Parts: sequence; structure tokens; C-alpha cells
Amino acid sequence: MEEEILEKYKKAGKIASEVREASRKLLNVGVPLLDIAEKIEAMIREKGGEPAFPANLSLNDIAAHYTPVKKDETRIPEGAILKVDLGVHMDGYVADTAYTVSFSDDYAGLVDASKSALENILELCTPGRKLADISAKIQETIEGAGYKPVSNLTGHGLQQYFLHADPHVPNVRFSSDYTLSEGQAIAIEPFATEGEGRIKETEPALIYMMLAGKPVRNPDARLIMQFASRFNGLPFAERWIPIESTFKIRMAVRELKEKGVLYGYPPLKEVSKGMVSQAEHTVIVADEPIVTTK
Ligand code: MN
Ligand code: MN
Repeated sequence: MEEEILEKYKKAGKIASEVREASRKLLNVGVPLLDIAEKIEAMIREKGGEPAFPANLSLNDIAAHYTPVKKDETRIPEGAILKVDLGVHMDGYVADTAYTVSFSDDYAGLVDASKSALENILELCTPGRKLADISAKIQETIEGAGYKPVSNLTGHGLQQYFLHADPHVPNVRFSSDYTLSEGQAIAIEPFATEGEGRIKETEPALIYMMLAGKPVRNPDARLIMQFASRFNGLPFAERWIPIESTFKIRMAVRELKEKGVLYGYPPLKEVSKGMVSQAEHTVIVADEPIVTTK
């Protein structure tokens, strides 16, 4: 990897890690998720970065991809478990990191399971390492702690302005000869659950990504397409769209999805309503792996 690019990954990682640690103080029972998301995104900008995607604040059995809507009134409920997933980019080079906080003693073990799984594999991110060995280790750690890994959520490669690039990094054993290469940027994100270990998509999507520009006539759709294009293919929040009415946004977004202009990331829920924990770091593969978000 070129030195200049590595520096951007490291800068993004430093900001992501500082904001992640600062965000812990915002989390208390009764605090609105909207305030937390807006503060996280503002802190990223204050530190000279840009959000690589909206702050994801996923409660309880929602594993990922919930971000507050405009005027969202959801507050952290008593006894909740909350996943905070945030991203920073510098010129499209992304740092992706997440942690879980529990507001009940019941979930301490669950939070620890995904965290230990992540910690156990960071040192394995070396050139020539079989990806399948990393996945097996994640599964082993989570099952060893008495929980299930979420089998249909994966970590992923990172490329400039491309969040979910190859290779995908499963959290369960799989068969593949794929090996990691020097300088590759990957996000590792073990998810553990008390449930069955699978997630399903729910409606509506609150996070979007632009796929391609197409001719559109509806003025709202055209405005949204223009707005979406500034993210260069990185995800953005419905909440960020500069149209006041969510109803109008959703009408226009439906058209843009049908035309293949936008892709929606729906919130992902555990199929058996099991509580879910997540931990994530971004790593540059090297003999001494560089954890940019440490
Ligand atoms: Mn993430
Ligand atoms: Mn990720």
C-alpha cells in the first residue's frame, strides 16, 4: 500500500477511535438515539473527518443498520443492549468500528463474546493467512462463551469509497482457500447472539447508497439523487436528506430504488428476537497487523 493511502487509513482510524471512546459518555438510559447519532456525526466532522456512513445505533435484537429518522423519539430503554457502529473516511479511505454497551447485567457475557472474538483474531490478520481460519476462530470463541455467532452477517474488505468490498469475512466456519494479502484493508465484525444466529431484513430501510445516476423527472427524486451523488457511493441516512417530509422522501426513494439509482440497507433483526452484540475494528493486513481503529 502506498504510504499516502496508509496515512489516510490511519488518520480516519484515529478519528474513529477517538469518537468511539468519546461516544461512550453519551450513552445512558433515557437518552434519545437521535441526539447520540447527531453528536457522533458532528464529532467526526469537528475532528476533520467525514462520516463514512450514518451512525448506526441498533438496540436489542436489531443487529445492525438502524439509524435514527428525522424527529426520532426512540430513547435508550432500561435493560437494553445497544450496538454503536461508526465510520470515518478521509478521501474515501474508511475506518469502520463498533462496540456494544449493555444496560443490564444479563448481557455482560454476550457483550464480552463478540469483543473477545474480535480481540482473538486481530493478530491473525497477517499476509498468507487463510480467511477460513479467521472465521473458524470467531465461531469458536463465541460458541466457547456459550452464544451463537450470527451466520449471515460478515466483515468485509474496504476500498476507496467502497464500504462492503471483497472479501466478505463470515463469522462462522466456511470452506475457502482465500488468503489475506499484505496491505489489504479489512473490517472484522463478530456478532454474537442468544438467539438462533441469523438475521432477517425489516422495513423500511433508513440508510441508502447511490448505485448509478439515471434521468428522473420528479423534483424530489431529482433533488435526492443530486444529494446522494456527493457521497461517492458511500452510504447516507434518510435523516440527512434535505426534504422536510419523510413521506415525500419515501415516495421519491421508492422511485429511485425501482430505477436502480439507490440501494437501501434495511435494519437487520435476529430471527428469533435474540439479543445481539457486535464488536468491530478496521485492520491493515501486515506481519504486524495495523489496527487503525485501536
Ligand atoms: Mn461497522
Ligand atoms: Mn463493517
